Amino acid sequence: MRWSMAFLANSLKPKKAAQRPLIQALALKKMTEMGLIRSSKTICYLCGNQAADSRDHVPPKALLPPASDDYPRITAPAHIMCNSNASADEEYVRDLIIPEAALFGHKEAESSFEKIWRAWSRDAGWKRYQRFLKDHVIVELKTPEGLYAGKGIGIKPEIERVKRVGRKIVRGVIFHDAQAVVAETDIVAAPLPVRDVSSIKTKDSRERYWQSLSDPSCLHTMCGPASALRRVYIGHPFDQGIVIESHFAIILWTLYFAASVMIPLDSVKKEDFKFSIDETSGEWIRSGGKNGQQPAAVDRQ
Ligand SMILES: [Zn+2]
Repeated sequence: MRWSMAFLANSLKPKKAAQRPLIQALALKKMTEMGLIRSSKTICYLCGNQAADSRDHVPPKALLPPASDDYPRITAPAHIMCNSNASADEEYVRDLIIPEAALFGHKEAESSFEKIWRAWSRDAGWKRYQRFLKDHVIVELKTPEGLYAGKGIGIKPEIERVKRVGRKIVRGVIFHDAQAVVAETDIVAAPLPVRDVSSIKTKDSRERYWQSLSDPSCLHTMCGPASALRRVYIGHPFDQGIVIESHFAIILWTLYFAASVMIPLDSVKKEDFKFSIDETSGEWIRSGGKNGQQPAAVDRQ
């Protein structure tokens, strides 16, 4: 008994002075990573200016099931003001995809769907719902396996709004992976229904987009049972330096968002880039971290 008391007392002794700064630095790094410390020099991934005063979930929380330990959440620093411009579009996309996800049997979407239904029955929500139904058509529903599932309401999505939400997610992912601020206008994007993806992929299988995202080195982060972020970064030397070609697949329940963007290497902070860079070879290519693992790029919030 005495031995264990002594052992305990010993372990509680203050650390040697030399160890303290290192421990403090590690704690500070950890706290900064966890978003507990907001550096005044934090860059907003949306406008590229400093003093971001919040952390934005990427993808937005509203488009995913409630947070759980099974699915880590990625966040990126942003100004509250910059982020608030996007909230109406994000709400629109939520209204678009969650009911469909619930209809097609994604259990985790059901609680979000109930929330949306309650919101629609309030004044502001009712207006949204009316706008939503403006161009609706009655359609025959099919299960993902192609079986008839009755009649339903088909909505013609406002594609530009869906694209804006998808592009913002892409910008958040790039900032998270590479600390680079990318302009929205540089991102080429196409939203697709998930149910059409496999036939499009088969038809266009030789396209670079599908090929690179099928590569085993493609990075994959699950952010819900039916939601994932896939991305690949490929470096190309040019006369004026290196450009990173990047492709993204953002899967949110029934929505598949395909996007590509070229990122100049000088906009990437190399020390923060979470993927290996072999500049000795002509074409350097991603692959997660030093050991070929997925980057532990995760904030649990
Ligand atoms: Zn900003």
